[in-house]
Amino acid sequence: MMGPSHALSGASVWLAGSWALDHFAGYGQSPLAVAVGATVCAGGALLPDLDLSGKVTRNQGGATVARTFGVFSLFVAEVVEKVSLGVYTATKLSRDPRRTNGHRTFTHTLPFAGLVGWGTTTLCASYGKWAVVAIVFLMAGLALRGLFDEWAERAGWLIVTLASGAIAWFTAANLPGDRGYPMLGMAVGVGCVVHLLGDMITKNGVPILWPIPIGRRMWRMVGVPNGMAVRVGGKTETLVLRSLFTLVAVLAVAGMFAPHVLRNLDLEKWAGG
Ligand SMILES: [Zn+2]
Repeated sequence: MMGPSHALSGASVWLAGSWALDHFAGYGQSPLAVAVGATVCAGGALLPDLDLSGKVTRNQGGATVARTFGVFSLFVAEVVEKVSLGVYTATKLSRDPRRTNGHRTFTHTLPFAGLVGWGTTTLCASYGKWAVVAIVFLMAGLALRGLFDEWAERAGWLIVTLASGAIAWFTAANLPGDRGYPMLGMAVGVGCVVHLLGDMITKNGVPILWPIPIGRRMWRMVGVPNGMAVRVGGKTETLVLRSLFTLVAVLAVAGMFAPHVLRNLDLEKWAGG
């Protein structure tokens, strides 16, 4: 899937999960905590594609996510791609093909999702609010870039960076510091997993089973059968899936913070029940 769909799916999964926690487990969160979680999850859902490198010296190419902070994130993407390729080459078995590019390798695995989730949690636990501000800043940049891609393209990376800074500052000023931030690492990790699922319904799949060796292959690409695969950037993705994600997000927010609106809509009748 493309950047905007990944970001949108991350946000909607986080909002739906927050609604479910509130509804079934009685775990309520403040509107700001939910907004921060959804933003971080949307950003996290773009993180795996940081392995798509461009041309740093010419400031070109790279995935949506790699262009967030201009040439800086493009450089990071270059490094991530090379490191991923290194992990691939170091762990490939005899039946895994030789590769010259690290895209859709290490950052598209469950251990990577776990690692960034754990890393985020550890940073927040060790450095408290300052780590939170830094993480929210980075993830908000990715989320803005993903969710409002046309605006971000027109505005340029400097404006996106400033806007992320404003979001991080607002969060720091308003999020209570005493309860810790257990949800932040969770949001980044969940975002990565949502990204993997999104890529699994497209043609090439992802090495979701790594590092489990099967049939002298460690990097088997797993996805839906080609006949069912969603075409990247096609109508199914840009129209059907994005509308679905948006609907889920809106319903979840309404369910959490304005349940009377949903009751007035009389959803049961609307669904033909
Ligand atoms: Zn991807």
